[in-house]
Amino acid sequence: MADKTRVAFLGLGAMGLPMSEHILAAGFPLTVWNRTAAKADALVAAGAVRAATPRDAAQGADVILTCLPTQDEVRDVLTRPDGLLAGLARGAAFVDTSTIDPSASQQLIALCAERGVDMIEAPLSGGTIGAKSGTLTMMIGGDAAILERVRPVLESMAKNIFHVGGAGMGQTLKLCNQMIAGAQTIALSEAYAILHAAGVDAKLATDVFAVSTANCVAIQQRVPVPGVLPNSPATNGWRAGFATEWMAKDLFLSLQFARSLDIPVAQNAANLQCFEQAIQAGYRKLDQSVYGKLLIDAVDAHKKHE
Ligand code: NDP
Repeated sequence: MADKTRVAFLGLGAMGLPMSEHILAAGFPLTVWNRTAAKADALVAAGAVRAATPRDAAQGADVILTCLPTQDEVRDVLTRPDGLLAGLARGAAFVDTSTIDPSASQQLIALCAERGVDMIEAPLSGGTIGAKSGTLTMMIGGDAAILERVRPVLESMAKNIFHVGGAGMGQTLKLCNQMIAGAQTIALSEAYAILHAAGVDAKLATDVFAVSTANCVAIQQRVPVPGVLPNSPATNGWRAGFATEWMAKDLFLSLQFARSLDIPVAQNAANLQCFEQAIQAGYRKLDQSVYGKLLIDAVDAHKKHE
């Protein structure tokens, strides 16, 4: 694909905004659309064109990307009267980077194919840190030939691009990744609540874990005690990062998917309940590691009443 591939990006949230910045910085002509228009202001000031509707964003674009919450928003942005399908040219390539239900993604890919639009799924890993540094991992599901056409655009924001199989397989891998990541978060939350109750220093414990078998991405990035890791959500007011609502969404999707395959996932079901508790406590928009705060606060409340 030529350097002047015209790109459109829809969904300028915690992930979509920094991804768009990389596309623009790489020199691609970029049109953007966001439900809350003001979030595009900085990009427009930097040279992007603002579209009034998804349809307008799609018109004239060779490669269109979305980064939206769930299958419901992706389907809506695609199929509403002023949606992408009303503006996409035949032969355009559509890349959905959201984490959504694998079957829904298969259906959307089939729907696009009926309308002459080539779609692949490209769920992400690497979080907001990876989005800002342009080092994301992408798990591509769909036709490998479409990936090759859009690869230069994806390489402007991702360091690791894996074609993992047909439609739905990228999303399947991503949901499995979330099961493993979510389990780490809940294990850390419970462990650090015990350390807190027993009076073990959290920083010292983290130094020990880093060179022991407990070492994992969550130990490196998401210790649920403020001040232990300089760049963790806990140290930064629990700002997401990866919001608790999105982890609960992903674990719910993975639970449904596992059930459809008759695979017991008891640990995943228990982890989902923990994230749902954090949502009930009012922490929906805070980083997923805030479940640790919930447990540690409960330890303190218990001590007070002793
Ligand atoms: P944010 O909440 O930060 O952004 C959501 C985006 O979706 C915003 O642009 C928002 O617009 C838009 N949106 C929400 N509802 C609608 C709607 N009904 N119609 C149109 N647009 C809508 O989410 P993230 O960027 O964190 O996550 C986006 C996706 O990426 C999710 O699927 C998530 O699971 C996945 N993901 C997130 C990671 C992370 O670390 N944050 C890591 C890997 C994947 P508005 O500005 O108007 O609210």
